[in-house]
Amino acid sequence: MKHTITLIPGDGTGHEITAATKRVVEATGVDIEWDIVHAGAEVFESEGTVLPEKVLESLRKNKVGLKGPLTTPIGTGFRSVNVAMRKIFDLYACVRPCKSFKGVRSRYENIDIVIIRENTEDLYAGIEFEQGKKETNDLINYIAGINETPIKKDSGISIKPISISGSERIIRYAFEYARKNNRKKVTGVHKANIMKFTDGLFLDVFRKVAAEYPDIASEDRIIDNMCMQLVQKPELYDVLVLPNLYGDIISDLAAGLVGGLGVAPGGNIGAELSLFEPTHGSAPKYKGLNKVNPVAQMLSAVMMLRHIGENGCADIMEKAIAQVIAEGKSVTYDMKPSPDDPTAVGTSQMADAIIKEIKKLLKI
Ligand code: NAD
Repeated sequence: MKHTITLIPGDGTGHEITAATKRVVEATGVDIEWDIVHAGAEVFESEGTVLPEKVLESLRKNKVGLKGPLTTPIGTGFRSVNVAMRKIFDLYACVRPCKSFKGVRSRYENIDIVIIRENTEDLYAGIEFEQGKKETNDLINYIAGINETPIKKDSGISIKPISISGSERIIRYAFEYARKNNRKKVTGVHKANIMKFTDGLFLDVFRKVAAEYPDIASEDRIIDNMCMQLVQKPELYDVLVLPNLYGDIISDLAAGLVGGLGVAPGGNIGAELSLFEPTHGSAPKYKGLNKVNPVAQMLSAVMMLRHIGENGCADIMEKAIAQVIAEGKSVTYDMKPSPDDPTAVGTSQMADAIIKEIKKLLKI
């Protein structure tokens, strides 16, 4: 089946890692037509915006996108293109698989955890009141009238909304993900012992939704305990589902467990549309040097292939990447024992080595 996918190469080293990824995806034999559109700091000068309408149109039409990292230009009034796209398309689930690859230097082995983070609510909803402003003082006075615990007059305030509907859709997504990907367990993470009306609500919804999936084991953990458990016995965990803030922090913690940003892919999923991208940024200092590691971008493409039902091509691509990393020969500088190792290869040569492995696996 032919798929049309929006490809946003991104800024900085995005061009190199998406070009390498495109070649590797195509080597699996999957039938993809790429609709290439540009967003980010580099199009700002010609288009006058970091997020041109044709990017949004392409995503609306194709429903699936693969994106390189984007630089957030300073002083344009745009906070982040990534955040803007998540908001415009209501990409409510941020999915970050964190898997050990033999050959990646890390303190742990055999980790295979998927972090599913709620992307739209919580302290990240952007409802904030600046210290000293009239509306902030009004809010402080209002709360003093209805609550026994006063807020200090010189406070700034961020609001933490967590809804039943927002919690239900992310928790259901986590259980559906577990079912679809042969996962055994979903762990709901919260601080319900302290924040009863927000995290407590999240936990209530978690328990209700979990009861609808008797085939998937479920448990909950308090966030502080979760941090300790992930450091002490990460191999016990499978799929984690978390509200926005905890999800943000635990995603990085889990990426650290398996070797860091170079191997951390991600997907932002909505009801209508999904966008896959590496966790790292545009590494602008290496732009045009054919130097950076394309693996996080490639593993994001593997997630994309699974999302569009091309599991066979995804498996072959992931196996080939794992093989090249395990061999440790044709890998970029960051995967060598020392960053100035003269045997390190460039982005494009690493892609060539992966394509060679794909051809072996496909026996062509
Ligand atoms: P960064 O991830 O670009 O770089 C952090 C460090 O990791 C740097 O030393 C960099 O050289 C290295 N690095 C990053 N990717 C690498 C790779 N693939 N291989 C080898 N080394 C790699 O983070 P930053 O410097 O804070 O941000 C640069 C720009 O990227 C900023 O404008 C930021 O806003 C943007 N950014 C975008 C995204 C995204 O598009 N999702 C995410 C994070 C940051």
